[in-house]
Amino acid sequence: MVVIFGDQLDHESNALQGFDPAHDLVWMAEAAGESTHVLSHKVRIAYFLSSMRHFAEELRDRKYRVEYTKLNAENNSGDLGRELETALRKFNPERVVAVEPGEYRIEQMLLATTKQAGTPLDLRPDGHFYSTRQEFANWAKTHKQLRMEFFYREMRKKTGVLMEQGEPVGGRWNFDVENRGAFGKTGPAKNLKPPHHCPPDKITREVINLVNATFPSHPGSLAHFDLPVTTAQAEAALKDFVHHHLPDFGTYQDAMWTDQPFLYHSRLAGAMNLKLLNPRRVVMAVEDAYQRGCAPLAAAEGFIRQILGWREYIRGIYWTQMPKYIDSNALHATEKLPDLYWDAKTDMECLRQTVGHTLDYGYAHHIERLMVLGLYSLLFGVDPVEIHKWYLAIYWDAVEWVEMPNVIGMSQFADGGLMSSKPYAASGKYIARMSNFCRNCRYKPDESIGEDACPFTTLYWAFLLKHEKILSKNPRMMMQVRNLTRLDTGKRKAIQNQADLHRQQTAKGSY
Ligand SMILES: Cc1cc2nc3c(=O)[nH]c(=O)nc-3n(C[C@H](O)[C@H](O)[C@H](O)COP(=O)(O)OP(=O)(O)OC[C@H]3O[C@@H](n4cnc5c(N)ncnc54)[C@H](O)[C@@H]3O)c2cc1C
Ligand code: SF4
Repeated sequence: MVVIFGDQLDHESNALQGFDPAHDLVWMAEAAGESTHVLSHKVRIAYFLSSMRHFAEELRDRKYRVEYTKLNAENNSGDLGRELETALRKFNPERVVAVEPGEYRIEQMLLATTKQAGTPLDLRPDGHFYSTRQEFANWAKTHKQLRMEFFYREMRKKTGVLMEQGEPVGGRWNFDVENRGAFGKTGPAKNLKPPHHCPPDKITREVINLVNATFPSHPGSLAHFDLPVTTAQAEAALKDFVHHHLPDFGTYQDAMWTDQPFLYHSRLAGAMNLKLLNPRRVVMAVEDAYQRGCAPLAAAEGFIRQILGWREYIRGIYWTQMPKYIDSNALHATEKLPDLYWDAKTDMECLRQTVGHTLDYGYAHHIERLMVLGLYSLLFGVDPVEIHKWYLAIYWDAVEWVEMPNVIGMSQFADGGLMSSKPYAASGKYIARMSNFCRNCRYKPDESIGEDACPFTTLYWAFLLKHEKILSKNPRMMMQVRNLTRLDTGKRKAIQNQADLHRQQTAKGSY
């Protein structure tokens, strides 16, 4: 019996190698518990269910025997482990074949359930990724600091992507400095094309109705659902991205703009995370666009770095650090997650915008996740577990192996610098530089005290004051910490008081 979980929808999966249609069976199940262990956004639930149902249909078309339990099937316990247990009792298979799960919790469940049933488990490596878990672990053992940049260079050498006679194309590994453009006063191009649209078909429409009926109180809306739910659709979305958005992706990767959630981003993370789309296809298409002269090197390299570098590195961090990674809390952050993360009710325009389109689409791009939503939580001092659960619930592309290191490590610095050499701490001035949000906000990004003070700026200074001792030991934070000497005792006190007041008022929902 081949077990396929919802984030393993890969027709080239190692689990399907050697499948014999005469004897073998594919088992898949929808379980409500997977949508409620964190309060999942409706788009995230619908995306998983629709993609799973399409995948099962495609397997049947290819003459695979598929046992598929729908969410609303009679006797569905709602618990993935229990459903697997029931299937093992019903089919009593010779062995279970599976690809190593993406999530630690699911892997533990699979190991325990098959062991308890006495069914041998043939657990195979996940060929979707460029590197195996073991390769990353070996790399990690030989490096004192686990910096993405060094891992990325290894991956470039290993794959030959954007390489010429053993050297990086263009003479540099990294065009990061060319990836930080803002839109200035005018904003993105007037003819900026919206992302590729996949109209919901019959299966997706059924799923949308099911999700709305089963999870009515979950966050978000399905009104705009148009995501790629099959490999063919994901490949069409990739083609569309490469043609229309890749050339400007490099320059505007970090830019933000009012009512423009997608800008030049690909919206491909979900399709890759469910394995509908192979990252090699993505990287090849982007490299090819560069070679044909259809995209500048800074855009192609900037995009490839996200997939060949960040995505692989993040997975390696997850698997080398689990299960203890979730307990990291280097900055001793204990605040509750403010309600505004669930309802976008706030005067802070940057948060109103980014939480707003997160609720509308289950999407926010990387810099919004890191430098608005994550930054606010870091400066506010939210308990890392609370903010982790929010991220895991709220994005359509959220799966734990990629979400957790991005949140715990990159955005909250809860791992004390295992991943990032310094916390991503900034004041409202960063947001003012990279977006037009501040122009439509009642607060002023330059001010840290007083009625008009930007809460990000107040909290930023309060953050530096609170963590001065730890941060002053970090060579990359020295400049920022040194700026504290400009504040006299009175100003320090005023900032701390304003930060406390902000926290109290936010807890009451009035900021
Ligand atoms: C706090 C936080 C939480 C995040 N949670 C998730 C998550 O749950 N799932 C997820 O896939 N990504 C997550 N990311 C990474 C990144 O923000 C998303 O992959 C990206 O925004 C998805 O949109 P896109 O497909 O349009 O990406 P694009 O901007 O078009 O980027 C291209 C691709 O690069 C990959 N990528 C880019 N940055 C990263 C990164 N930091 N880590 C891993 N892969 C990356 C993704 O596969 C993405 O599709 C998170 C980042 C932060 C800071
Ligand atoms: S002024 Fe501050 S709160 Fe307002 S949009 Fe700018 S950064 Fe956000």
